[in-house]
Amino acid sequence: MTNDEPPPRSLSVRARLLSVTGIAVLASLLVWHGQIADFLGFGSPGDKAPVVGGSGPAGRVLDAEGDVPGTPEHKPTTTPRPKPKPSKTPKPKPIKTKSTDNQTYDEESTEGMSPKLRSRLLKAMAAAKADGVDVRINSGRRSAAKQRRLLDEAIEKYGSYKAAVRWVLPPEFSEHVKGRAVDITPATGAKWLELNGYKYGICRRYDNEPWHFEALSAPGRKCPPREPYALAK
Ligand SMILES: [Zn+2]
Repeated sequence: MTNDEPPPRSLSVRARLLSVTGIAVLASLLVWHGQIADFLGFGSPGDKAPVVGGSGPAGRVLDAEGDVPGTPEHKPTTTPRPKPKPSKTPKPKPIKTKSTDNQTYDEESTEGMSPKLRSRLLKAMAAAKADGVDVRINSGRRSAAKQRRLLDEAIEKYGSYKAAVRWVLPPEFSEHVKGRAVDITPATGAKWLELNGYKYGICRRYDNEPWHFEALSAPGRKCPPREPYALAK
C-alpha cells in the first residue's frame, strides 16, 4: 500500500504542474500577443481611442506639434507673435544746421545782417509797431548753401535758370547772402514799409518782389527807382 501511494501523488503533482505550466504558457502567449498587437497598432478599439480620437488627447498632441516652427497648419497662430515687434529705429530729428560751407543764421531775425540794415530796420519796425502794423522778418541773412538750394528749387519751379534768377539770385549775387537784404511779411507790413521805409533809409528794390527791402538810400531821402526784377550781375 505504501508503494501504491506515491504514483497517484506523483501523478496528481505532475498533472498540477502541467496545468500550471499550461496556464502560464497560455497567459504568456496572450500577453505576448497583446504586446505584438499593440506594437503593430492592431489593438482593441479601446486602445486606439486615445491615439486617433479627435478632441481629447489627439488635439493636445497636435497643439504640441504646432509649436514646432514650419508646421504649415499652425503657422497663422505662431506668426502673430513676432508681429508686435515694431522695430522702430528712432529717426534723427531734422537738424537746423545745414550749410557745408557757411555759418547758419536765424533767418527770421536780424542775425547776420549788416549793421546798417539792422539798425535801420529795427527803427522802422518800432515805428510800424507804434502805428499798429505788424512788420516781421520772413527772411534776412541766408547762408550761401541755403541760397543755392532756393535757386535750385526756383529752377525747378520756373523751368530754367534764366527765369529762376529773376526771383532767386545765385549766392554770389544775392544781397541776402551778404546780409544786406530782408524779406518782410505779412503783405500789409511790406506795404507799410514800402510807404514809410524811406524815412529810415529802407527801400523796396524790385517790381516783382513787394516783400524785398534793402538799405538803399540815406534816411529821409527818396528811394532810387525800382528795378523790374533781380539780375545776376
Ligand atoms: Zn529778398
